[in-house]
Amino acid sequence: MIGRDAGTSTPAPKRVAAQEGLFDVACDPPVLLGTRCGACDAAFFPPLGVGCEICGAAEESLRSAPLRATGRLQAFATVFRHPGTDIETPFTVAEIELDDGPVVRALMLAPTDDDLAVNDGVAGAWISCGATEKGEEIIDLRFAVKENRS
Ligand SMILES: [Zn+2]
Repeated sequence: MIGRDAGTSTPAPKRVAAQEGLFDVACDPPVLLGTRCGACDAAFFPPLGVGCEICGAAEESLRSAPLRATGRLQAFATVFRHPGTDIETPFTVAEIELDDGPVVRALMLAPTDDDLAVNDGVAGAWISCGATEKGEEIIDLRFAVKENRS
């Protein structure tokens, strides 16, 4: 047999999203699972379950739409005190206008806003945040600056 030894190789662990239904974890670079209106072409994230918020078209007009995880910083804030135990402080929350339309609120990869500026170009990246009992890798999305203030 040519190539790797199938007897000893182990398959890469399966990846699962920290939050079901928001991201396509098979895509790299990351893709957000949004919705696009067939009538007015507006895009939404998180995906809409009812009619279009812009033109009022019925639910049947909405289609699943992959949205690129790239955009521009509109606003950001670093959180230093947080009552929950699900995330370590400090962390930075940002509002990002995606290149594909919607404004989303997301976490930045860097814990503080030291090097951030409004209008910075940002892109999504996967982070590993543990494993399930079945050994699947749990991944989540964070944004990082790819291009400073243009
Ligand atoms: Zn619409």
